[in-house]
Amino acid sequence: MSWIRIDDSAPEHPKLIRAGTSACWLWVCGLAYCSRHLTDGIIPSEAIERFGVAGAAKHAAQLVAVGLWEQTSGGYLVHDYHEYQPSRSQVETRRERSAQRLKAWREANSYIGGNAHETLLHDDVKDERNAVSTINPVPVPVPVPKEPKKKNMSSRLDEPDGFAEFWATYPRKDARKDALKAYRALKPTPDLRAVMLAAIARHRVSRQWQDGFIPLAATWIRGERWTDAGAASLPAVSAPARPMGEAHDANFTRSCDVCRTPFAPPRYQDGSVRYVYTCPACMEKDAEALRR
Ligand SMILES: [Zn+2]
Repeated sequence: MSWIRIDDSAPEHPKLIRAGTSACWLWVCGLAYCSRHLTDGIIPSEAIERFGVAGAAKHAAQLVAVGLWEQTSGGYLVHDYHEYQPSRSQVETRRERSAQRLKAWREANSYIGGNAHETLLHDDVKDERNAVSTINPVPVPVPVPKEPKKKNMSSRLDEPDGFAEFWATYPRKDARKDALKAYRALKPTPDLRAVMLAAIARHRVSRQWQDGFIPLAATWIRGERWTDAGAASLPAVSAPARPMGEAHDANFTRSCDVCRTPFAPPRYQDGSVRYVYTCPACMEKDAEALRR
């Protein structure tokens, strides 16, 4: 399954308004058909009859009249299809890259049991969705190591105990090298490793992480975030239990995990502060590092 993209101003678009409700539905069915079959916007005439829209031929003519479809010899072409939808080659390249990454990751992590595969599959599904929902339909290139097996295996041999499990459990997979560096410096004992894994499990369902504010693994390690008092009483998404003191203090500041500078964290609509522990400047540097 994949997704199609429709401009959120579509309901006000003059072409769609002129086309009328039924023709618009035919237009949506057409987009879904093109996406499902990767036709790059081409819809054969006989396919339209199978959409189950009464008076399909009449509505198709209407779509041509308003300029949403173009008449071709064998059927129709969705006007400006690639402005919003990825092309067949983009989709195939993305799927191929996902498959390669999955394969490389499986080979490198075959010794980690449990649900590690599920975690990755889940991330891949998210990738697929994100790639389609970004403003630019061109998929973000994901570097695939040339010789993933050999390279990973040899570099993984001298990794500290427990790092592989930590990395498989930690949900944000950016900047692995820096995470490894922080992990090495920490030299966690088996007891501490267990505490860290348990903390990740709690943080995963916290409101902050659910909102997508997941620190880099290195930041999480260096900040010793498993000791967070707030994380113990985990604020579930459905029943947020937020520190009330902070909620009522408009001047509340927090010391940045990275640079230690006090900053005013962002707030929820009700005025309570968000679980963001990195100042905007360091957050931007983080993002910058990822873009490089
Ligand atoms: Zn900072």
